[in-house]
Amino acid sequence: MRYSKQREAVYQVLCGTTTHPDVNWIYQEVRKIMPHVSLGTVYRNLAELVSCGRIHRVGVENSSERFDARTDPHAHYVCEKCRCVTDVELNQFDVHHKIPQVNRCEVIMYGVCNDCSSNQTQE
Ligand SMILES: [Zn+2]
Ligand SMILES: [Zn+2]
Repeated sequence: MRYSKQREAVYQVLCGTTTHPDVNWIYQEVRKIMPHVSLGTVYRNLAELVSCGRIHRVGVENSSERFDARTDPHAHYVCEKCRCVTDVELNQFDVHHKIPQVNRCEVIMYGVCNDCSSNQTQE
């Protein structure tokens, strides 16, 4: 794949966060570095990064597509209230001991995050 300054900017932005942002968030951040970049360009670069395995796409129910720069096997926890996505560590030994090779992992758990459940009790 040809080196692209825009693609590297997209990748750096995604590497700098653990929030699993959607394309619009990434677009806003990339624009701070490259003010003339278009949403279409950011989206195309994300798709390219996904297809070469440098980032992963996280499919979240009732939400726009989210992206993740972390590519080692891990699960996700999605809050049904605020739609935040957090990483859940898998037992690495279990994963690699019981399954010969894990290239991708798409476990998504749904629930209500700590922030949202503590807000609820204050009401
Ligand atoms: Zn929440
Ligand atoms: Zn993740």
